[in-house]
Amino acid sequence: MSDYDVIVIGSGAGGGTLVHQLAASGLRILLLERGDWLPREPQNWQSRAVFVDNRYVSQDTWFDGSGKPFQPQVHYCVGGSTKLYGAALYRLRAEDFGELRHHDGLSPAWPIAYDEMEPYYTRAEQLYQVHGARGEDPTEPHASAPYPFPAVSHEPRIQQLSDDLAAAGLNPFHAPCGVMLAEQDMPHSRCIRCPTCDGFPCLVHAKADAEVLAVRPALAHDNVTLVTRTEVLRLDTDTSGRTVTRVIADRDGAVEVFTGDVVVVACGAANSAKLLLASANDKHPGGLANGSDQVGRNYMFHNSQAVLALSREPNPTVFQKTLGVNDFYFRGPEFDFPLGNIQMVGKSDAEMYRGEKPLQTRLAPERTLEEVARHAVDFWLSTEDLPDPENRVTLRRDGHVQLRYEPNNQEPKQRLLHELRSLLGRTGMHQHHLIPRHAYLKNDIPVAGCAHQAGTCRFGTDPASSVLDRDCRAHEVDNLYVVDTSFFPSIGAVNPALTAMANALRVGDHLLERIGPARTAREPEHVA
Ligand SMILES: Cc1cc2nc3c(=O)[nH]c(=O)nc-3n(C[C@H](O)[C@H](O)[C@H](O)COP(=O)(O)OP(=O)(O)OC[C@H]3O[C@@H](n4cnc5c(N)ncnc54)[C@H](O)[C@@H]3O)c2cc1C
Ligand code: SF4
Repeated sequence: MSDYDVIVIGSGAGGGTLVHQLAASGLRILLLERGDWLPREPQNWQSRAVFVDNRYVSQDTWFDGSGKPFQPQVHYCVGGSTKLYGAALYRLRAEDFGELRHHDGLSPAWPIAYDEMEPYYTRAEQLYQVHGARGEDPTEPHASAPYPFPAVSHEPRIQQLSDDLAAAGLNPFHAPCGVMLAEQDMPHSRCIRCPTCDGFPCLVHAKADAEVLAVRPALAHDNVTLVTRTEVLRLDTDTSGRTVTRVIADRDGAVEVFTGDVVVVACGAANSAKLLLASANDKHPGGLANGSDQVGRNYMFHNSQAVLALSREPNPTVFQKTLGVNDFYFRGPEFDFPLGNIQMVGKSDAEMYRGEKPLQTRLAPERTLEEVARHAVDFWLSTEDLPDPENRVTLRRDGHVQLRYEPNNQEPKQRLLHELRSLLGRTGMHQHHLIPRHAYLKNDIPVAGCAHQAGTCRFGTDPASSVLDRDCRAHEVDNLYVVDTSFFPSIGAVNPALTAMANALRVGDHLLERIGPARTAREPEHVA
């Protein structure tokens, strides 16, 4: 008999949420996490430590397509990338689940429709305490329940921006936020509405991340075990190749073997592909579950742009990530293809700009960095990048990840920036300054900014062109699942985490159905 009913590898948005979903079932669940608990320390909220010294970024080295090494923006800790995320918790649009024609080609349909995911989006919004306002964003998909919490209010400069955008004919909306903020009862609010949220860990555990809201509550159940500092290296199968039998891990330098009836991989899109590729064996010579040769392919991470505009008036906003604009999501003016989403990022400060050459050379001769920061209004633009089989994760001989990526769909990305630029004069900004931000995007080495990575093990109905079936089970391995953002067949243009969380709940329901009877059948064994 296996040691566990379910082994989940990786404790982020996908893995952490799944474990939370399964915890109350009584199943014996093991959660393996390569990182440790993220330390709670003053540096959590220090810009230099977080943005300049990369204190919470993994020490991994990956290689780009030309073999150049880089440090990827991935985070190995309980809760995974959600510990650092901006907690903008968007649903994909209903249309994103169908086929969408873009400037550079087709964004493929998903094997399930939005309606099938909808109840899980609602549950994920409840679990992750999303604050928002329905009915403001004309592109938002239908929802079976209101947001569980009211929208986070705009501070005056952002309210002014919202009013100016509305006057310009757009439909700005309150962005969906996962922060545990009780604005009507601040003495009891866990969130203090601080300036160091997006990209920072939350020192007071008030961000709706997978550690705080999924893993910790799951561990209250005796049947859930978390083992940290344990990197899974390989999955072994039986001789038929149909069943994973052993999970081989490095636990603080020593090899340890775990067994589970069901094994769920949730290491993040690049690392999940890495694990499957590293698990090649006689029956799976190209990598586990990779008869289709799709594992690692179709890597996507959004055509993202972080830009800074200079407000004519000072911008004293503390928590800036409260506004979004989706008017260009499906088309642009005189352009019949999708452009993408515009939202705010966390308010920048002078400390973050250190080492950012474009800012220093373009602005610093006339202004101090402190002055720039005082007037900065910070935007994040996302355009969909399309799945391309040649954009892929492979394993080098030395076991390191190689990430080949050629950008696509650049024209709509440029047009989205152009639309924002053309709005500057009407929104109280200096018209000629829309400065790219390096620290957010790591865009001195573009592939390093892999915060929104997705798509390396896409789900689908055809085993020849997908890795997973519609339940996120590997077509070729009966007890193997993948529940992180790897399963995305396309990425849309909104942030990915809520979709990973909702999908983990969906797969969780499937697993409860699948394993429930098996467990009941096993029970007499215990009694005897
Ligand atoms: C700075 C930043 C800001 C972001 N902001 C937003 C936002 O505002 N909204 C949004 O929707 N998304 C945002 N994202 C993206 C979001 O965090 C990810 O989409 C989401 O966390 C992905 O979930 P996942 O389960 O695929 O991977 P992760 O959450 O990264 O979890 C993967 C886990 O697997 C572990 N792991 C990896 N390999 C192994 C192994 N071999 N053995 C054991 N454990 C392993 C890792 O340590 C990690 O804990 C942001 C990301 C970053 C970095
Ligand atoms: S704004 Fe709230 S959730 Fe975000 S880091 Fe500050 S206290 Fe934490």
